[in-house]
Amino acid sequence: MRAPSPEDIARSIVAACADCEVCRFMLTDDCLFFRELYRLHDREAETGAAPSPEELRSMLDRCTYCALCGCPDIRADIIAAKSGLAARDGLPLSVRLLEDVARLGQLGATAPRLANRIMQSSPLAGVGKRLAGVHASRRLPQVPPETFTAWARRKGLHRPPSPGVARKAAYFAGCSGRYFFPEVPRALVRLLQMSGVAVYVPEQVCCGMPPFLEGDHTKALDMARANVTRLAALAAEGFDIVCSCPTCGYVLKKLIRERAYYAESYQRSVGAAPDVLKVPMADGRRAGSASVFNTLRRSIYGRILKDDGHFAAIDPLERIAVGENTWDAGEYLVEAVEGRGLRNTAMPRTRLAYFVPCHQREQGIGRPYLALMQKVPGLEIDVLDGAYECCGMGGIMGFKRDFHAHALELGAAVAAKIKTLHPDIVVTDCLSCRLQLAHMTPFTVQHPLEILAAAWA
Ligand code: SF4
Ligand code: SF4
Repeated sequence: MRAPSPEDIARSIVAACADCEVCRFMLTDDCLFFRELYRLHDREAETGAAPSPEELRSMLDRCTYCALCGCPDIRADIIAAKSGLAARDGLPLSVRLLEDVARLGQLGATAPRLANRIMQSSPLAGVGKRLAGVHASRRLPQVPPETFTAWARRKGLHRPPSPGVARKAAYFAGCSGRYFFPEVPRALVRLLQMSGVAVYVPEQVCCGMPPFLEGDHTKALDMARANVTRLAALAAEGFDIVCSCPTCGYVLKKLIRERAYYAESYQRSVGAAPDVLKVPMADGRRAGSASVFNTLRRSIYGRILKDDGHFAAIDPLERIAVGENTWDAGEYLVEAVEGRGLRNTAMPRTRLAYFVPCHQREQGIGRPYLALMQKVPGLEIDVLDGAYECCGMGGIMGFKRDFHAHALELGAAVAAKIKTLHPDIVVTDCLSCRLQLAHMTPFTVQHPLEILAAAWA
């Protein structure tokens, strides 16, 4: 039997979601993928005109992997279809340039002033944008005078702390933080050090989300493998892995770990009998939960519950070790910093509009930054965290010529709410959301870590 083509996979997604219809009612206002899926399905039902390969590709290209929809398997199929298209037809040069955020950052860091002069004002910016497939009116981030990586090296954070420290964090800062917004990771380092946590910034590469989303399977897998191998070894040495980027956190905690618990090596490690699969009932990091399992009969579930996802080529035990030991910086601060009784300094009365990013919501950790900011006297906070509220940026997707208008349409509701609130500062923990909200509203946008660092200074 021939392997399904990318178009076959896309059609099977249309059929499955048309059968189910949950996302027709829940998400067609907020997800362009489902809006297009149901449009194509309804047209075929009414006129018999099946979606063309181009229409299927365009439908797939509308998913930003916000993870707001209910089915990880459907999302995995979207990426499988995109990966099939990329493998068969290749990726345009512009996508290959844009998906490598770290390389763009490193390039800018070689001559930051020149890079800013070219990219912010000169007509050369237009040429650069065209080459990288960036929409002409999309604002580009400034290149900072010093990257976080260089700063961390200057501070000696690239060397592991001496053995015996009580609590040590391996900080996964993410490409946008390392190369474009170093003030954010610097704020976290300061907060952690103030609370007595030893900070180590290990070698790291991009979390892999941009190439994953583009269907560049090999690149995403290579990046994930490099990070997982290094971070799993650090977890084994007692490091907590901490992320200030919610997308990196989502990738390391959730995406890479998907289906790893079904692997034979994991089943052996928890002593599963040959006829059952043992699957933890909750996140294994939480106290005691690692030993509480759902027990599933292999005769019923063995054929569908397999470790066969996008990252199955990476050791499942290492993926689990990384997933279970990775913390979002907000939740880590609640435990590590607050527990040590650091005092908030009262701030001048400041009205914040806090937008909670999709990939933070998907981590199921509550609202740790909100809890911390609410304790700072002087801060008045409006929260935007509706179940389907999305800024629309989709990582690098909002930069793309063909997606720019979609990104603005998706983010319009959130931007309108923020404009109505008219805050002094917009706060969000995702640096892609930061770029989008700075593009769509006239307000200063900051990370909660910057607010907290000022309050705890
Ligand atoms: S993604 Fe899942 S819940 Fe949503 S329509 Fe498709 S099958 Fe139903
Ligand atoms: S991940 Fe987000 S963009 Fe993609 S189909 Fe689900 S809701 Fe839509």
